[in-house]
Amino acid sequence: MNKGELLYEGKAKRLYTSDKKEELIAEFKDDLTAFNAQKKSQEVGKGGLNCLISTHLFGLLEKAGIKTHLIEKIDETHQRVKRVEIIPIEVIVRNIATGSLSRRLGIQDGLVLPFTLVEFCYKSDELDDPIICDQHGLIMKLATQNEMDTLKALAREINEVLRPFFAQRRLNLVDFKVEFGRGENGEILLADEISPDSCRFWDMDSGEKLDKDRFRQDLGGVKVAYEEVLKRIEGAIL
Ligand code: 5GP
Repeated sequence: MNKGELLYEGKAKRLYTSDKKEELIAEFKDDLTAFNAQKKSQEVGKGGLNCLISTHLFGLLEKAGIKTHLIEKIDETHQRVKRVEIIPIEVIVRNIATGSLSRRLGIQDGLVLPFTLVEFCYKSDELDDPIICDQHGLIMKLATQNEMDTLKALAREINEVLRPFFAQRRLNLVDFKVEFGRGENGEILLADEISPDSCRFWDMDSGEKLDKDRFRQDLGGVKVAYEEVLKRIEGAIL
């Protein structure tokens, strides 16, 4: 599979055309960014870790019946993926309050939510990914009501698969962000990635943060934390 022209470069990935019109090649970068790229760094090997972690998790979700854009992992930092039209909505799923939820609403950091919260943000660097409701989505023609209902239902299903999977590995899945795209015939597919860049994982015993908050909050040990997440994903169920 040959990498063609660079179609899109995001903060953590590049997307290339491939030999097949309906397939793209995704490359995971070592770049680390936070706060809408106001804070930037590099962590050698991070792209490879996220490529492997995301491949594992998408495989797990496929097995559970959730359709994704992933076809296969090609090498350390590349995946073959189906070409989709990305829906510009970041779907945020929260089990425990922290981050922008606690900042925005004053909800106590660490509070286990009485039910899983699903939020939408408009994917826009210029506007700093603002939180939106369905009506904003309709007015801005980001998606149809049917599609937004599907995004919410899929996000909850993904949480129902991943939360117990990580709990068995003594990790609390605190929150995560997912993105979806429209594939052939408008079918909604899980796209982008699921990795410690886009999730928060707290060790159930020590409370240690094993995700990008280590970079956001200058805690150090970013790569060691990502390696620990991979080790637990690959390890036997505890
Ligand atoms: P918060 O809204 O608290 O900053 O983030 C909630 C969850 O969504 C966290 O797991 C965070 O990593 C993820 N998230 C939110 N926005 C983005 C984004 O623009 N990119 C990535 N990779 N993850 C995000």
